[in-house]
Amino acid sequence: MRLPGIGGSAFVTGFTSLQLLSAWVSGASPHCPEKLKELSSPNCGDDDPECPLEGPFHTVNQSVDDSFRYIKTSYCPPYDWSCLSNQKGRRPCARRQTFKIPLRPTIARSAVPLGLGWPAGKSSQEKDLTKLPSVGMNQGQPMLGAIGVLVNGVALNGVATKLSEALPSTTKLEGADRWVDAVLAEAWMDDDCLGHLSGGGNYHTHAGRWTTDQREVCGLPRDIPGKHSELLGWAFDGYGLYGPQDVDGQSPQDLDACGGHSGLTAGATASAYHYHMADMYPYALECYKGCPEPSNNFRFKDLPCVQEAPRSGSAEL
Ligand SMILES: [Zn+2]
Ligand SMILES: [Zn+2]
Repeated sequence: MRLPGIGGSAFVTGFTSLQLLSAWVSGASPHCPEKLKELSSPNCGDDDPECPLEGPFHTVNQSVDDSFRYIKTSYCPPYDWSCLSNQKGRRPCARRQTFKIPLRPTIARSAVPLGLGWPAGKSSQEKDLTKLPSVGMNQGQPMLGAIGVLVNGVALNGVATKLSEALPSTTKLEGADRWVDAVLAEAWMDDDCLGHLSGGGNYHTHAGRWTTDQREVCGLPRDIPGKHSELLGWAFDGYGLYGPQDVDGQSPQDLDACGGHSGLTAGATASAYHYHMADMYPYALECYKGCPEPSNNFRFKDLPCVQEAPRSGSAEL
């Protein structure tokens, strides 16, 4: 794979439409020029210019105060996205946003459901998208939009999608619309780093399936064999998202229903709760262990998240 270097030092702050245009005209060599021609629907403007295809890529800025880690991102991938496809012929545009990650997560009294309610490991082998396992539209609403953000600035979206919105325009929906596994249903849209656009044009991934080599070229840290996976991002309840390896380098065997466990992580001296990503459903997390920060996704405002009763003597009583 031919990808430019994307180490932190290659990132620069700020960009203009003119710079992007000149990078485009000056002979960027996209991986998938033929697919790029299909992405011909102009959908980026002065306020949200097209994401760069080659370096310099947009920066991801992190800052911290007493309560939050702030992840300032443009939603743009720090890599060549030319291999992506979508029904609407759209290209990724810079959608600047600052996500707030709670530094001290509040555990929810009952976990906040996000996914399809399936057990971990339930990934279909079905090749016909119209026959993917599904749940009815009236069986609870899976979480749409971003549920976390990765260290490369790419949004991590919930695992479900409406089948009607995932099918290529040449494939007809038969029967009622339904929720399906977005990783499988939308794989035909993926670029080199398993990213694609939502119906609203936001670049995102559902993640989990990268190889460690692939991760590096996607602006994410690679794992060390025999060690706990590296931090790949944060869920919006404040807990960290790690790759597929536990402390011994093997798959963790004690993940809870949300996809997390408590334990040591790479470089940590104290045990802490965190999520593990995997190459099977739910790929990232099926539910939040903690209450998510409401400002990160407008759909969180209606979530009934009650934090666990504080301990006696707490200032929150
Ligand atoms: Zn998607
Ligand atoms: Zn772990």
